[in-house]
Amino acid sequence: MILHGIGASAGIGIGKAVCVREQNLDYSAVRYGGKDVEKGRLQEAIGQFTEKTAAMAEHLRAQVGQKESEILTGQIAMLADPFLQSQMGDAIDGGACAEAAVDQVCTMYAEMFAGVDDELMRQRATDVRDIRARMLSILLGVGAVDVSALPEGSVLVAHDLTPSMTVGLKKENVAAILTEVGGRTSHSAILARAMELPAVLGVAKALEQVKDGESVIVDGTEGTVIVAPDQLTRADYLGRQEALRAEKERLEVYRGKETVDAEGRRFGLYANIGSPAEAAAAAEAGAEGIGLFRTEFLFMDRTSLPSEVEQYEAYLAVSRAMAGKEVIIRTLDVGGDKAIDYLGMEKEENPFLGHRAIRYCLDRPDLYKVQLRALLRAGAEGRNIKIMLPLVTSLEEVRTARGLLEKCKAELESEGLPYDKDMALGVMVETPAAALIADLLAQECDFFSIGTNDLTQYTMAVDRGNAKVEKLYTTFHPAVLRSIRSVIAAGRAAGIPVGMCGEAAADPRLIPLLLSWGLSEFSVSASAVLATRAQIHRWRAEEARQVAQEAMGLSTAAGVEGYLSSAVKG
Ligand code: PEP
Ligand code: MG
Repeated sequence: MILHGIGASAGIGIGKAVCVREQNLDYSAVRYGGKDVEKGRLQEAIGQFTEKTAAMAEHLRAQVGQKESEILTGQIAMLADPFLQSQMGDAIDGGACAEAAVDQVCTMYAEMFAGVDDELMRQRATDVRDIRARMLSILLGVGAVDVSALPEGSVLVAHDLTPSMTVGLKKENVAAILTEVGGRTSHSAILARAMELPAVLGVAKALEQVKDGESVIVDGTEGTVIVAPDQLTRADYLGRQEALRAEKERLEVYRGKETVDAEGRRFGLYANIGSPAEAAAAAEAGAEGIGLFRTEFLFMDRTSLPSEVEQYEAYLAVSRAMAGKEVIIRTLDVGGDKAIDYLGMEKEENPFLGHRAIRYCLDRPDLYKVQLRALLRAGAEGRNIKIMLPLVTSLEEVRTARGLLEKCKAELESEGLPYDKDMALGVMVETPAAALIADLLAQECDFFSIGTNDLTQYTMAVDRGNAKVEKLYTTFHPAVLRSIRSVIAAGRAAGIPVGMCGEAAADPRLIPLLLSWGLSEFSVSASAVLATRAQIHRWRAEEARQVAQEAMGLSTAAGVEGYLSSAVKG
């Protein structure tokens, strides 16, 4: 059987399916067994919860730190509270089974905490919800698949790949990833590419079509999945896998080389990262800087905000890993498909058009200043950190952010803490509004970076994560290309550097256009650094100019894509 989806992370993975299903915590079929029985079940579950959570806390303390483990020990204390337990007991006396008692009492507390206008209380709400879900799974006996303990050669099949899932994943045991939702630039795709794991996303009903333990081939380049392949097909794909390995080896000659075109003109080749650990991989891959550090991943998969010191340490680690090379750190880009539960953000009808990224941060100066202070402080040592603002649509946003930055500097000055007084402030051009006022924005910021993932989404009015409209999501559309061309021109006219950190920067078909328009820096995932350097190496300025001119004379996305595909070198 062949399934089709979106090839989101190139490469071929061959292995056995491990299906990760969302836990079903529906307890409507549970019968009330009487007061004593239900109370006994409740106590038994509390005992198991305490034991498991204590072990998890100990693991976290050893692996991550004391502070993180205290979140879990705090949960044990909450559940041990005699008042809370007596409320559960009362519910059982009133005829509720143990599951219903846990559900009712935890939900009541979660709602109460969530309604309080205090960050700490809202975090408690997240904790109580977590307690509820884990207690119900113990009572119902439905365990979650532990992705950190997957056997070697696993093909992970899931509805979605969440950041928390990827944190525990042991890359060496995973052959490929297959999900039911997500597009080429969704965050699950970006995570898969960062881990260099072949991935096909957006395969409708994958969990119904693939059985646990079944043999699967995932072709992340073509976007196809072959379930239970025959011998011949398997041999064919093993051959293709080998060819890819050989190609990767050929690229090794570009490691440590400068990024120049065929005539020796230099371009910057940077890497996109999502954690300090990835900075080392980026440096090793030969990146000449970090063009985008997506800091929201520091805020995910935890139950409270990272403190100024924690953030400072993370940013400093990246600054040091890059040893003096430029590091562009994007401030919190929350919202859209990047949810952070403990912030208690309201559900919105149109999250991609909603209260997110810079909009959210400017309305939460308490939270935003912590990040800006951490960035300013982390830049004091290497002086290589630059700040970048996501989802800008107006000059006012840049001015307000700059005002907050100046406030933070004044605070640090009076506290006598070292910081980088000259830290550059740049804008991510990823909305049509920003692209259309690029000339004005360029007067008030130090650099641009074009975020083609969102620029394409907003210009084309196509949800970047929706597989149903994937065909309409294309950077080859003349509207998107004209926009990119004019942003580069506006930046150059103002004398500021213009980079690109969207996925398009690594597309070999677009390289001649970007070279001839004068992009200063390409920022791509660490795994794409060498291939991008090899591509840039092949172009002469005049050839690139001709290809760009021809492409921009075409009037449809399909026409442009077809032409540029035929013009790729090598
Ligand atoms: C973009 O929008 O192009 C981008 C690089 O940012 P993200 O993918 O994190 O939205
Ligand atoms: Mg973006």
